[in-house]
Amino acid sequence: MTTKKIQRFLAERRATPYLVVDLDLVADNYRKLKEAVPQAGIYYAVKANPAPEILALLAKLGSAFDTASVNEIDMALKAGVDGKRISFGNTIKKQSDIAAAHARGVTLFAFDSEAELDKIAKAAPGAKVFCRILTSGEGADWPLSRKFGCDVEMARDLLIAAAKRGVVPHGVSFHVGSQMKNVDAWDSAVAQAAWIFRECEAAGVTLNMLNMGGGFPTKYRKDIPLMGSYGAAIHAALGKHFGNRIPPEIIVEPGRQMVGNAGVIDTEVVLVSRKSAKDARRWVYLDIGKFGGLAETMDEAIQYPIVSAKKGPGARVVIAGPTCDSADVMYEKADYRLPLDLEAGDRLEIRATGAYTTTYAAVAFNGFEPIKTYCI
Ligand SMILES: *Cc1c(COP(=O)(O)O)cnc(C)c1O
Repeated sequence: MTTKKIQRFLAERRATPYLVVDLDLVADNYRKLKEAVPQAGIYYAVKANPAPEILALLAKLGSAFDTASVNEIDMALKAGVDGKRISFGNTIKKQSDIAAAHARGVTLFAFDSEAELDKIAKAAPGAKVFCRILTSGEGADWPLSRKFGCDVEMARDLLIAAAKRGVVPHGVSFHVGSQMKNVDAWDSAVAQAAWIFRECEAAGVTLNMLNMGGGFPTKYRKDIPLMGSYGAAIHAALGKHFGNRIPPEIIVEPGRQMVGNAGVIDTEVVLVSRKSAKDARRWVYLDIGKFGGLAETMDEAIQYPIVSAKKGPGARVVIAGPTCDSADVMYEKADYRLPLDLEAGDRLEIRATGAYTTTYAAVAFNGFEPIKTYCI
């Protein structure tokens, strides 16, 4: 997406590459999500884009924060929330980091294994804990399956055990996979969570919180379902599986949906070339690539809209980054077309790059500076 504000900013022709984020779009995204899932507390996943201006805006709008490290917790605190509005949602934490979070007033911690539960019990006694369950990730362009979560039987057993270890068994979480385009993906995860709630209740342990994770998409090259259809599907799933016993606390953890469409990367074309006189396909090398922030182009999974100001006829191109690594090719199979008169020095807009770009940039591979962010 682009806005007049973004276009005015791009026209000032700063040194590239950089990301410009229109904060009005972030505020819009927050309102749309709130409208779609009014029953849910919003915990913005800081990793998607931790720019201080974005965190401060979301804190002001009432958001809480999902964090994965002590540094992210400090960023959230700096944005103006206290520890009670922060979740330490990473299931893989050092015990010393759990203690540091606890000392900062964080009271909500994720786990998906007995060993992690032990660490939390030792370093954050009295904390509220929730267990993450496995999901298939099917239907997501950027699945998060396999690495996180445990099966439902283990989740039940650990939550029941948690009570005896001096922490509060608070609830269940899942993540259906990032850029989830199937609105029904939440249904089976909610069903599994409801089963755990019932099993725990039968064992005398009452859970209070259901954390439905992130996964809400942003629009790249293809259309996505409206936010309202996700809300309706989630609402239906809660009714179907929890009946009249919907958990008092519902949480969502949007990352991509909140900031993806709010940012545009301004990049300069460094070289346009061909591999042989017979080969018609041009290679377009940009001053940003996989190591400069476009890591989600891995396997061409996330396909950003790329826009040139030149309006001449276009043809198929390969699009690559500037580093001396042959993995630094963003799009080769996907059908990207750019104007035939495109040349070095021209600028391109890589749209919908507000999420998972600046945080994925290497520190200085080949000496290239990490990408800058401007929030306007
Ligand atoms: C990354 C992450 C999110 C955000 O996911 P999106 O797909 O960007 O919405 C939410 N929760 C957890 C635990 C995460 O790791």
